[in-house]
Amino acid sequence: MIKTFAQSWVEIGGSLQINWVLVNAWLQFASWGLFSVLLAEVLRDIYHALCHQVNWLAKWHNKHHMAYRRDLSVVSLKIYQESQLYHDILESSLLVVALTLTALIVPQRGLWLGVAYACTFLYGACVRYFQGKIDTDYNHLPGPLETIPSIWWVNRSYHWRHHFDDVNAYYSGVFPLVDKILGTALSLKGKTVALTGASGALGQALTAELVKCNAKVVALTTNPEKLAEQTGVKVITWQLGNEAELKESLQKIDILIINHGVNVYTSRTPDAINSSYEVNTFSALRLMDIFLATVTGPQAKATKEIWVNTSEAEVSPALSPLYELSKRALGDIVTLKRLDGNCIIRKLILGPFKSQLNPYGVMSARQVARVVLFLAKRDLRNIIVTINPLTYLLFPLKETSTWLYYRVFSRIAKSE
Ligand SMILES: [Zn+2]
Ligand SMILES: [Zn+2]
Repeated sequence: MIKTFAQSWVEIGGSLQINWVLVNAWLQFASWGLFSVLLAEVLRDIYHALCHQVNWLAKWHNKHHMAYRRDLSVVSLKIYQESQLYHDILESSLLVVALTLTALIVPQRGLWLGVAYACTFLYGACVRYFQGKIDTDYNHLPGPLETIPSIWWVNRSYHWRHHFDDVNAYYSGVFPLVDKILGTALSLKGKTVALTGASGALGQALTAELVKCNAKVVALTTNPEKLAEQTGVKVITWQLGNEAELKESLQKIDILIINHGVNVYTSRTPDAINSSYEVNTFSALRLMDIFLATVTGPQAKATKEIWVNTSEAEVSPALSPLYELSKRALGDIVTLKRLDGNCIIRKLILGPFKSQLNPYGVMSARQVARVVLFLAKRDLRNIIVTINPLTYLLFPLKETSTWLYYRVFSRIAKSE
């Protein structure tokens, strides 16, 4: 029998309908499955954070911390096995129980994927404990830390900081979601933070906020007479062009914040051009290079950081052409330098705040400093604080496209 054209379409339509039902079911299964795996990780990280707050949980969890030396080599087989029993087996058993209960209460088959996922951890921990073999996961592999802490997932350098930088931070195991929520994705406690432009409005506000976070501050200034004495703050005087003299001081610094700048406003004289680039671009880059040369040693990549205040002028008008030009040049070269991955480099993209450079600023320097640290503790690498909504849209576009272009058309510097 010859089918009519209309009949064929009805048949195709019918089979498509059945397929859609199947596709729908699979999609539902997959999304619940994905959710349960994410839930497993979030629960694991919450349990980990609790282990560092609740004494009786800490007793068992500390076995994990006791098992590793600073280079992540294992102290002894006995201590390693104890850590498997009291930490890994206990933690993954609790996780299996919690996820099984969730899957029983919520009737979604996809949730059993999370249970299976948690069972793999329990199985691995049991094998390591009973076989008495040291077989650590990727994040605990011994040796120097060759990459900077990752932003999207937890790598060795990220987790190393939990063991040896601050045990009360960096709780996440796979996705750094819990750390981003808790503000534990970067710990400033005990860190030595140096900042230039320390006598300016933002410099002083940042200094006060950093001291509140228990950081030791080294105020680098060209105007020491403008700085009042403060506890927890060491003042070092420097001069433009003599950045190399700071080499010794920068050796002991964990985080360098480059925050100095000049604004020549409407001027366009040769002097104005020269000083804008010299202060805003080249002096900042010289300091970066000197600091980057101090990122040596097996664990330096995990803790050393540079923050550069490139300002909103990178993408938005600052009503000062030379300020924009010199800051954009700095911003672009920072993007280029980030490709080498020598240490974490954050950009501070700040809108107008009240300061000597800008007496008409809308935000206060104190508010800006607070938000900068709030976002830094959540490990944002591009910290945008402005009232201009366009910057939030334009900056990521500009940064991503420039990064991609520089990545394709530039090569890593090879040592001779
Ligand atoms: Zn660990
Ligand atoms: Zn821990």
